[in-house]
Amino acid sequence: MTTSTSTSAASDRGSAPAPTASGRVGVIQRYREFLPVTDATPVISLAEGSTPLIHAAALSRLVGRDCRVYVKFEGLNPTGSFKDRGMTMALSKAVESGARAVICASTGNTSAAAAAYAARAGIECVVLLPAGKIALGKLAQALVHGARVVAIDGNFDDALRLVRELGQRPDCAIVNSINPYRIEGQKTAAFEIIEELGDAPDAHFIPVGNAGNITAYWKGYREFHALGRSRTLPRMTGFQAAGSAPIYHGEVVTAPDTVATAIRIGNPASWREAGQAVHDSGGVIDIVTDEQILAAQRWLASHEGVFVEPASAAPIAGLMKCIEAAGAGRFCKGCPLPQLAEGSTIVCTVTGHGLKDADVILKGGFEPLQAPAAAAAVAERLGW
Ligand SMILES: *Cc1c(COP(=O)(O)O)cnc(C)c1O
Repeated sequence: MTTSTSTSAASDRGSAPAPTASGRVGVIQRYREFLPVTDATPVISLAEGSTPLIHAAALSRLVGRDCRVYVKFEGLNPTGSFKDRGMTMALSKAVESGARAVICASTGNTSAAAAAYAARAGIECVVLLPAGKIALGKLAQALVHGARVVAIDGNFDDALRLVRELGQRPDCAIVNSINPYRIEGQKTAAFEIIEELGDAPDAHFIPVGNAGNITAYWKGYREFHALGRSRTLPRMTGFQAAGSAPIYHGEVVTAPDTVATAIRIGNPASWREAGQAVHDSGGVIDIVTDEQILAAQRWLASHEGVFVEPASAAPIAGLMKCIEAAGAGRFCKGCPLPQLAEGSTIVCTVTGHGLKDADVILKGGFEPLQAPAAAAAVAERLGW
């Protein structure tokens, strides 16, 4: 049995002690009864999930009408993105099934998470990346965790096609979001939001790339609603980058292009499910430009103290777009704002940490002031 090779897997099994000294547990332990695991499933965990739901006071003021906006800061997961929630499930089920290797295509964060959880499980990880198109921090993560990384001369959609083929090998599990366990793990974020707010929010804003996460949140919201743990369901409002918006345009984008590399996807795997989520919840898929994304990223960092990567700023940019349109007395098609009553609650999932892609900030024209090492000179530069 492969499971016996992994000490972490063995020690976290079933009702074993929490994986951290602080008692903080991962999503499988926290939500075991809602996930397809059994006592035979080894729990490969890094104490992911339980991320903060941060009240965004400045953003709330912009929305006005006594609305409360929260950001679910998924960048505070162990590898810095929400991908950890799905990967704890995918790796646990892979090891349970006897896999000796996992493979994935990635715009970056999936590979970082797969590499870390595979290292923890003691199995091999193979990553296919679009050459030159992934943020440096994410590449560093995959490499340091010991994944074997192949940069291919193609885009993410090409990489995923190859993974579907190569992953047919026996003893190998595909851990892209076409792996249904990923969605299962990711739905736990919706559970946490409901538990923290005491109900579902009125609207949920989220970036959309491969569309697995919007699918997962909607699944989580519906499950807790069906169990009577929330009274309401949120309008699911997804944002694609303008240069990479297949769902918005209703057609595959062959050469997707955006600064938000994590959502640079031209043919989403969960396209149909995302469409369903938006349709059933009374939400919408809209677009934001790279300029709007970068402006929202800076705004969130400098007004709320939350530094996210560009893809994660898409829902913030989307909310600002809605606010501006509403202020001008016109609404974008399907915009949830006019439907929200006074005092509504909006949650924006910010999916990944800004440090993953620090390059984008430094290339964006930020520079420190220069001064000699003397207090008077520094004060002068500061205008103090
Ligand atoms: C993967 C990812 C997304 C896109 O999520 P999908 O499930 O592919 O729609 C958005 N932001 C970040 C930071 C990601 O890593």
